[in-house]
Amino acid sequence: MTNTMADYYSVLGVSKGATKEEVKKAYRKQALKYHPDRNPGDAEAEQRFKEISEAYEVLSNDQKRQMYDRYGKEGVHGASMGGAQGQGFESMEEALRTFMGAFGGGASGGDSVFESFFGGMGGSRQGMRGARQGASKRVNLTLSFEEAAKGAEKTLAVTNSATCKTCHGKRTTATDGIKTCSHCQGSGQVLEQRGFFSMAMTCPYCQGEGQEVVKPCETCRGQGSVKEKQNVKVHIPAGVADGMRMKMSGYGDAGAGGGPAGDLYVFIHVKQHEVFEREGDDVLLDLPITFTEAALGCKKDVPSILGQTCRITIPEGTQSGKTFRVRKEGFPNVHGHGTGDMLVRVYVETPTRLTKEQKDLLAHFHKLEGPHNSPRQEGFLDKLKSLFKR
Ligand SMILES: [Zn+2]
Ligand SMILES: [Zn+2]
Repeated sequence: MTNTMADYYSVLGVSKGATKEEVKKAYRKQALKYHPDRNPGDAEAEQRFKEISEAYEVLSNDQKRQMYDRYGKEGVHGASMGGAQGQGFESMEEALRTFMGAFGGGASGGDSVFESFFGGMGGSRQGMRGARQGASKRVNLTLSFEEAAKGAEKTLAVTNSATCKTCHGKRTTATDGIKTCSHCQGSGQVLEQRGFFSMAMTCPYCQGEGQEVVKPCETCRGQGSVKEKQNVKVHIPAGVADGMRMKMSGYGDAGAGGGPAGDLYVFIHVKQHEVFEREGDDVLLDLPITFTEAALGCKKDVPSILGQTCRITIPEGTQSGKTFRVRKEGFPNVHGHGTGDMLVRVYVETPTRLTKEQKDLLAHFHKLEGPHNSPRQEGFLDKLKSLFKR
């Protein structure tokens, strides 16, 4: 899909001469539309989200954009992938990081769609800093086939940035630990003389916050947050499938300045099973039987993925490839819509390594074979004959 991806400008729907602001605006608009939170389980939206994020990542960066204009995608991503094309965004994590970059970090306060989307960001400068949501992150979780069928309780080790417990995120423990920034007098901006003009710049000393920490908290060195290993308990519902993603709201990095925490995205991988295969909520099982069992009929016990023993009656004269359906022994539907079935497909094995006695018996049987012993061959030969007659 990415091979044939259109150029970055048309992906975002902007002209070649678009300003940075226009690029950003176009990206925001599309990103809000295709964000995975708004399109759960929609692979097309996901792909689109990755594409626009990739395009934005390049076009929002002067250097990358220049390289791209001159050399195309290879110029930006390198031509290591067989030289054919640059490597794009493969993971959602990258795309989400770009997304956070475009929206986070004190984004404009006036974007109402965005605020309702994230529950208030880029807020007012009450207290020490504007409220900012913590970063969201991704973890991969690999499950066995059985765990996917039965559900599981898992503990994920995540390193999050957590609010400092010593200063409670205030960055200082002293009452006089925070002062108005002396470089910008609290405005968060400084004026820089450029020829005839003076330009307003974000104050480099306080990063625009208007305040500086003069007595930083010793635990977090004035950051307000510390890296912390956390064990996040996750309940995996029965029936999850490979490629599904779960969102754990608020289990990402802690927010700053009273902003909400980021989210944790759990990407589910399910290992393949040695004998079972999954198709939707149904589970498939290939069952080998001998040709005498197929001819004479038999009963077979097979295990289901949920640990039940299922007895299957194979009637006499069963052909290879015949499928028997065992109701409700498949995967429980992850959204609670019933349970799939187990489909047992028999295949008849031709006997090998025959003894002398077995060969004699089969030779004898062959002599006794009647016209109705091989129904398919019979019909097949009839069809061939009609072809020869033409
Ligand atoms: Zn602290
Ligand atoms: Zn300042």
